[in-house]
Amino acid sequence: MKIEQISEHIWSLKSWMLIPCTVWVVAEEDGLTLVDAGMPFMAKGILKFLEQMKATGTLQRILLTHGHGDHVGSVKAILERYTVPVYAHATEIPYMDGDQIYPRRKKPEHNIPRKITTPLGEGENSLQRVGSLLPVFTPGHSPGHVVYYHEQDGVLLSGDLFTSKNGRLRRPMRMFTADMAQAVQSAACLRDLKPKRVEICHGKPVFQPSEQVEEYLKAHS
Ligand SMILES: [Zn+2]
Ligand SMILES: [Zn+2]
Repeated sequence: MKIEQISEHIWSLKSWMLIPCTVWVVAEEDGLTLVDAGMPFMAKGILKFLEQMKATGTLQRILLTHGHGDHVGSVKAILERYTVPVYAHATEIPYMDGDQIYPRRKKPEHNIPRKITTPLGEGENSLQRVGSLLPVFTPGHSPGHVVYYHEQDGVLLSGDLFTSKNGRLRRPMRMFTADMAQAVQSAACLRDLKPKRVEICHGKPVFQPSEQVEEYLKAHS
């Protein structure tokens, strides 16, 4: 597992199995937040890193971008060590729990224990902040996909909203995307957020992504 501090408050933890898979640890005033939980085999490395980070803080919560198996794989093992809440968008939870079948899939998913996920709080025009992270609803790749923006560090943790190639934004993987047109439209959040860096689960980060967003939207709509 490759671990890198990517900004003042954020570490990325990356493993490879055919493709890269990334999770992030964010230092908060009250401890640590894990954003996404990767594939099941990543549990050991994530737990080891959390242990190493003890001086900075203890794990307080897990935030999920969505419920696909490669983003929730280590949740169960982490909850055996830490008693913390797990959050995802309310729209995503029935799919994660296997009560609804993800669009374009044949069978319900059972990658995470049922009924353990808490819906992210809804504010008036946006989702409620969790520590320093602002969740932003970005449906398309999955029905309840969210990204998390760390405003102070200017880093957007974008799950599967994008892939990337040669420093350019690319669309998410078609095979695993519920509604590509909607996923493309969700990229418009870059206009308002204007992050310095967008972190991508299955690829390299893209810098100043808002400079590419109009071209991206035009090319794919
Ligand atoms: Zn996915
Ligand atoms: Zn994924």
